[in-house]
Amino acid sequence: MKLLIFTFVGVVHLLSLGSGKAIHKASTPQKTFKEIQEEIAGYTDVAKAIINLAVYGRAQNRSYERLAHLVDTVGPRLSGSKNLEEAIQLTYQSLKDSGLENVHLEPVKVPHWERGEESAMMVKPRLYKMAILGLGSSIGTPAEGITAEVLVVNSFDELQRRAIEAKGKIVVYNQPYISYATSVKYRVQGAVEAAKVGALASLIRSVASFSIYSPHTGNQKYQDGVTKIPTACITVEDAEMMSRIASHGTTIVVNLKMGAVNYPDTDSFNTVAEITGSRHPEQIVLVSGHLDSWDVGQGAMDDGGGAFISWEALSLIKDLGLRPKRTLRLVLWTAEEQGGVGASQYYQLHKVNISQYSLVMESDAGTYLPTGLQFTGSDKARSIMEEVMSLLRPLNITQVFTKGEGEDINFWIQAGVPGASLLDDLNKYFFFHHSHGDTMTALDPKQMNVAAAVWAVVSYVVADLDEMLPR
Ligand SMILES: [Zn+2]
Repeated sequence: MKLLIFTFVGVVHLLSLGSGKAIHKASTPQKTFKEIQEEIAGYTDVAKAIINLAVYGRAQNRSYERLAHLVDTVGPRLSGSKNLEEAIQLTYQSLKDSGLENVHLEPVKVPHWERGEESAMMVKPRLYKMAILGLGSSIGTPAEGITAEVLVVNSFDELQRRAIEAKGKIVVYNQPYISYATSVKYRVQGAVEAAKVGALASLIRSVASFSIYSPHTGNQKYQDGVTKIPTACITVEDAEMMSRIASHGTTIVVNLKMGAVNYPDTDSFNTVAEITGSRHPEQIVLVSGHLDSWDVGQGAMDDGGGAFISWEALSLIKDLGLRPKRTLRLVLWTAEEQGGVGASQYYQLHKVNISQYSLVMESDAGTYLPTGLQFTGSDKARSIMEEVMSLLRPLNITQVFTKGEGEDINFWIQAGVPGASLLDDLNKYFFFHHSHGDTMTALDPKQMNVAAAVWAVVSYVVADLDEMLPR
């Protein structure tokens, strides 16, 4: 098998040396679609070699093992924490040791919030300690906590209808889980909406597709001119229970204590490594995931998996002795969870070269068995991506969906650069998302192998095509 692989590589190098136009303007496509189709079909053997190495060969389980080594040792990696900076330094060193090129750190100022000690005790109608997780950027409570009657609502509309009842209370949101995108607004805006009607604090049903009594944290946003109130998530079970109790007209009283503190911004870094392009080193295919996480579990799934299959994509390509015409740039973002802080800084710094970006890719929705690629770009670019994905027929993963956006690549996509995200079992992803359950146990090394193979084939082929993706 090894011999076979190196034969493929030899053929590819000869082909890439002998074909293509020497120099052309990135933005003026010269090939017909049929020619591009034929060009992509020429990568069939390379795609097989990548798949064989990642899924059946000696690179099996490497991304899982590298990730386990990091997160078992360092743990979760909250923006502003020592853990995150330790993880960045260790990963930086490992990327260098693994022989990738232009490995460097790009400084970023990131938010620093700590949850401190926190608790929620139901004191009426019975004494009962609830599991909670304060939401990122929430203020704390006074040391004795906030003790108040609870108003349970199922929606923002209900809160508006019952606004007069909310004053001086703790608002509990028991919104149903529809989808993450739909339901997350309760986590992000719940405190602001509750404060507007005079509530003292808000407790939000975790935005999760499934629960075995797990609170799921995440970011929330205050609004200028609206009183800041403490806010935390509670479990689906407790939200439903309080909703049932309240429906009988029974009074609920809760004591909420949160030691959360917002500190000044601290120093962090985006971590960058490359395989430099052989013919157009200034042109970029960006492959990414975020290295930061919440401060619970191990941040293994979100987004250790995405970050480490992105690294693995470059490793697989390097192991096969492949060097694409364009530069493959790995970026491991910092402070994604605080609203794409590292990615925003990267965009400001690098947007001057935006015409050189062929494709931006991010894996931040799990590294389970991929169902395909989500893609945003022109119809022409989509047709090309469909051809590229057809190279993954041996894995039976060929679909190209819509909505390639991701928190860290959106700046580029909004400015017209084609963008792609890896799609897998999102329902399963939101079992674990932002909870203590986000550990290595939630991941499957074999599925990560497949995800890495998809990621490597797509990034390599797009980086090696004669022309950049059309916009
Ligand atoms: Zn994430």
